[in-house]
Amino acid sequence: MTGARPLIIAWLLLLTAALAIGGLAIHLLRGQEQSLAVAAAETRRQSLAASAESISLAVAEARDTLAVTLQTLPADNLIDTLETWRLDNPLVRNVFVWQPGSGLLHPDPLYPTRDEERAFLQRYAELFAGQAVWSPPAADDPLISGQAQARRELRDLAKSLSAEVASAPGPTGATGWLPWFWGDGLHLLVWADQPDGRRYGLEIEMAALLSRLVTALPEPQEASETLALLDDHGRAVHQRGTADLSTRPVIAMATPIGAALPHWQIALYQDVDAQPATQGVLVLGGLLTLVLVVAILLGGSLLLWQARRSLRDARRKTSFVANVSHELKTPLTTIRMYSEMLEEQAEIEPERQRRYLGVISSEARRLTRLVNNLLDFSRLEQGHKQYHLQPVNLAQLVEHTLAGQSVLLEANEIQLELILPQNPVTCHTDSDAVEQSLLNLIDNAVKYAAEGKSLTVEMTTSGPNIEIHIDDRGPGIPASHAAQIFEMFHRVDNSLTTRKQGAGLGLSIARQLLRDLGGDLTFSPVVGGGSRFTLRLPGDRETGDNA
Ligand code: ADP
Repeated sequence: MTGARPLIIAWLLLLTAALAIGGLAIHLLRGQEQSLAVAAAETRRQSLAASAESISLAVAEARDTLAVTLQTLPADNLIDTLETWRLDNPLVRNVFVWQPGSGLLHPDPLYPTRDEERAFLQRYAELFAGQAVWSPPAADDPLISGQAQARRELRDLAKSLSAEVASAPGPTGATGWLPWFWGDGLHLLVWADQPDGRRYGLEIEMAALLSRLVTALPEPQEASETLALLDDHGRAVHQRGTADLSTRPVIAMATPIGAALPHWQIALYQDVDAQPATQGVLVLGGLLTLVLVVAILLGGSLLLWQARRSLRDARRKTSFVANVSHELKTPLTTIRMYSEMLEEQAEIEPERQRRYLGVISSEARRLTRLVNNLLDFSRLEQGHKQYHLQPVNLAQLVEHTLAGQSVLLEANEIQLELILPQNPVTCHTDSDAVEQSLLNLIDNAVKYAAEGKSLTVEMTTSGPNIEIHIDDRGPGIPASHAAQIFEMFHRVDNSLTTRKQGAGLGLSIARQLLRDLGGDLTFSPVVGGGSRFTLRLPGDRETGDNA
């Protein structure tokens, strides 16, 4: 655990650093997003204000032109001139002549000639009755942009020039204009005074004026936006953009046109589903940050995992050396003990002598198997293992190998049952490797399953394969370890393995040897307790003996 602590600390540091970078990046992105949104809103506000100014100037220009024309009209035959003008100019809806004190001289309030005149008289009854003041709004709203300022100056210049021209032949009385609200909306009057006190003028045709204004309404900056000119009732009189304004969507931003069209405004609508342009950049930024953080974490975790693995391997190798030394020492001690007894006891019964020699030879065989395992391990690790293939009578090989283990099995009180096929079973293989694998399996059965008191070795043929099943009635292997027991150095971590020596090599070496020979080694649990190891080899096709 002590070795793992620096790794955990390193991983935690890495995690903290990655999270800090991620957090900082998200914080910066948020700030960026907010300032971008503020800047975008300010740009839109300015653009709306500029459009409002444009419209306001367009109204004022139309109004001034009409006022100047009014001033140039000859005083004689004024009513006829005005009427002719009305018919010629689409901007003129109605004309009038009014005398303070006497009332309306034209159109005749008692005998209007047209419906339009009748409506006009009704609309302005209060004004012409002297009950309303003729004063227009004090001044246009203060202008914002330089461009609008320049246009306004130009307009003032044009106004003064035309006033000079007009002053020569005709009357030079005051002119003015008046916004007038009636049931259906806003109306505009433009008037001029005669030196004799008569006031005459016209009512602007709003539809004609509007057609001049629409060009001043710019295209919206984004496809998801719509700009609209709203009248004093909030009705859209003109729009640019695709929004359906009949559904009365929420206005994102609005600017009043000003005194030129009182209570009129330009409104901006935004499609709420559409992503603002800045969002794409922010999403990309967020994604890149995420990728960075994940890459740091993955890379770091990989390094730490590698370090952990190396640490585990180093530990396994150390315990492997300790285990192997111990395994070698045990048979050597037994051999030495028994040979010393034979040496020291001069008069020894032949029966006992035979038993002592049996133990010595069995321990010597165990030693040989251990050394062979170690040699195989290093050759397999380095890829230098060589096999000597030759026809092998497998039944004979199994019988012979088990005979060599009879003393060991007897000493552990294990009953052996050997079931071999009637016909000889041959296989083109390496007999030493097969024997080594078998010995490893029998040694394990003796070490871990002796309490089951029985060992069954059965050879069968299955299709083209030959199988040797080695069944014991021991404690079996927990399912969670069933696959891992074939890994190098893996030992099931229980009291049984603590009591028995082993380096965790036997099964991995046996499986590798058999796989190299075209076969395999597998494990399956035995019903009722115990383990079954199946050693499979490819049969000898040429002889066909295995059928
Ligand atoms: P070793 O015997 O040197 O520990 P092996 O590779 O031969 O190594 O076996 C791996 C592990 O599998 C053993 O440590 C033991 O826990 C388990 N094992 C192997 N054979 C048996 C068996 N017949 N019964 C119970 N457990 C077994």
